[in-house]
Amino acid sequence: MISLKENFQKAHIVIIGSGIIGKFNALELSELGFQVTIIDPTQLQNSSNAALGLLMGNMYQKRKGRSWDLRKQSIELWPQWITFLQKFNCELNIEKPLIQLTTNEQKFKKLEKFIHENNDLNLQILEKNSIIIDNINKAFQTKNIKGIISFKDGRINAISLLETIDKYLKNKNINFVNEEIIKIRKSNDQWFSTTKNNRDIKSDIIILCNSLKAVDLIDNINHNIKLKPVLGQAIEVFINEAEIDLLTLPKQFNINGKNIIRITKNKLIIGSTDEYSTKPEDNIFEKITDFLDKKPNWLIKGQMTKKWFGVRSRPEGEPSPIMKNLGDGLIICTGFYKNGILLAPACSKWVSNEIKNYLS
Ligand SMILES: Cc1cc2nc3c(=O)[nH]c(=O)nc-3n(C[C@H](O)[C@H](O)[C@H](O)COP(=O)(O)OP(=O)(O)OC[C@H]3O[C@@H](n4cnc5c(N)ncnc54)[C@H](O)[C@@H]3O)c2cc1C
Repeated sequence: MISLKENFQKAHIVIIGSGIIGKFNALELSELGFQVTIIDPTQLQNSSNAALGLLMGNMYQKRKGRSWDLRKQSIELWPQWITFLQKFNCELNIEKPLIQLTTNEQKFKKLEKFIHENNDLNLQILEKNSIIIDNINKAFQTKNIKGIISFKDGRINAISLLETIDKYLKNKNINFVNEEIIKIRKSNDQWFSTTKNNRDIKSDIIILCNSLKAVDLIDNINHNIKLKPVLGQAIEVFINEAEIDLLTLPKQFNINGKNIIRITKNKLIIGSTDEYSTKPEDNIFEKITDFLDKKPNWLIKGQMTKKWFGVRSRPEGEPSPIMKNLGDGLIICTGFYKNGILLAPACSKWVSNEIKNYLS
């Protein structure tokens, strides 16, 4: 009897776009035995390389609906994938826990209500007199920071993750085409992806993982998918050690909407992902460090040693992400304006199930 895996080996799948979503789909599908080709002209200049890699799944305050289902599935799938990927990079890991902080009393009340309603041992309110809160208040020279801790959430280094998946894909001899796709069409049961250099790449299935540009490749009169660009920015800050010991802070936390990652005893990354313009700000240091009523001195004096940004795609008129089977072997997986790293395992699973159904 021919196994499902042997049957799959005959199908050739083209993935357009090699951000985390394209690469994770390639990983999942090649593990299932499919022949995969990834196409992307500029694989290092995407929003995935800009991501801070926070996995905010379990502390998501809405515990129903599709978004929660995807988060929940990803939280379960991530540890298995990490164990698998550690064969290619033994240092790849999820740093836990994740802490969410606020100075806004109303927001804290909502967090408290969420924790009390959910009775989840992996989520706790940080007591006012706990060492964590005490250290954070001391570091930020304030008295009113409060928050919660999630032992199931954490952070994965996005660059290291992408490099590890690359190692896996290379090891599997996955075909990588360094070109831009300008058109796709179906003819005689085969898909053709046409590159800018007028080369046609044949496949049985196409998965569109090319973020904002996905809509340019489909017949959008029928599908009516709208995406808008959303900027995300981050900076690395060097802090004078004499002023504060950053090692007293948690490794990763969110405070009043800004994500902070402690890199070393004198380096932090601060990221902001809720900007709705598309142009990076000139005064980014001022803006991104402005998350408390009063900035601590060490932060005012901090030196910005790096800055970067990424442009993501946000669906208009429907929830994020867009995961649709457009029929005939064409699948779209885009619109990850937030949480693309977190959701990659659950979304890739959804795609592979669609493909299995299509082929069976
Ligand atoms: C500053 C910042 C911080 C973030 N922090 C987090 C975080 O902490 N946690 C988290 O989960 N998420 C985070 N995100 C969000 C996350 O980065 C995105 O959700 C994710 O990267 C989306 O991945 P993607 O593969 O859909 O898109 P992208 O990474 O943008 O990849 C799309 C790819 O498609 C390619 N492409 C486009 N058009 C074509 C074409 N015609 N032919 C071939 N290829 C094409 C592009 O070159 C690109 O490589 C952050 C984002 C930013 C910017």
